[in-house]
Amino acid sequence: MARQWTDQIVQRHQLRVYADASMNGPNWRGLFSQAISEFNQLSSQKSLGVTLLATSQAPAPSGRGGADVSVSAANGEITLPYEGSRPVQFDGERLHGLTRQVHDPDINRIIKCHVFVPTNPQVQMPRGKRLVGPGVRMTILVHELVHCCGLSNSEHTNSGDLFIANPSVLLGSNGAAGDRVDLGTYGDDNLPQGMPPLVMLERTAQHIRRLWPTSSRRPNTGARKATLAGPPRGTQFASVDHTARSTRERRAFDRARSPQQPGRRVS
Ligand SMILES: [Zn+2]
Repeated sequence: MARQWTDQIVQRHQLRVYADASMNGPNWRGLFSQAISEFNQLSSQKSLGVTLLATSQAPAPSGRGGADVSVSAANGEITLPYEGSRPVQFDGERLHGLTRQVHDPDINRIIKCHVFVPTNPQVQMPRGKRLVGPGVRMTILVHELVHCCGLSNSEHTNSGDLFIANPSVLLGSNGAAGDRVDLGTYGDDNLPQGMPPLVMLERTAQHIRRLWPTSSRRPNTGARKATLAGPPRGTQFASVDHTARSTRERRAFDRARSPQQPGRRVS
């Protein structure tokens, strides 16, 4: 189920996003800024009510202060710095990301989000695997940033936009640079359509807008107060993930089948 951030953050209409050092690796370098900028472009086109701001300030380990969202490239065990957080196994070669929403159970609102993207996402080719192209990697990250707006797996779409539940990859005919995420739709030319360019369906936009109401419905700013009076007494976690299913054979594209299996929900 979708969940809102604290009033303080909802009224700010902005999430501050921190990329840690793992995002400077060769497979993700440059894609973080690109994903932020792509998201903000969609936000402006679709009046989502929330924009993203890259910050160099890491989230405070206490759960309060610093960035609202962290982004890391991961492979293996993921542990969050909160009491009660159990480690989660994450495969850094699969085409999926994972977002862990941390919420304060007293107010049932999100207080932090931690995004993980695979360090070395692979796609199966007829003769072995290779790193999936940058367009697909960037799309995986933007998908997770949409989860950071408060959306859960229940709001996934089946086809037609970046919030697709089980996307597959259209392999670039000239290598990784041409790899795209299969939208599951066909253009006027009868060819399968892919991302980038990123597409967001109205349905996904509506889910986000509901969580980020605009000024007409905003409470008087004079009445604002911090929602959290002290450190969270406990935190609860919701995990949402994004997994690519097997590459489907599609006309006009290289044919390949990927061994990727639908991901397990790891809540
Ligand atoms: Zn997802």
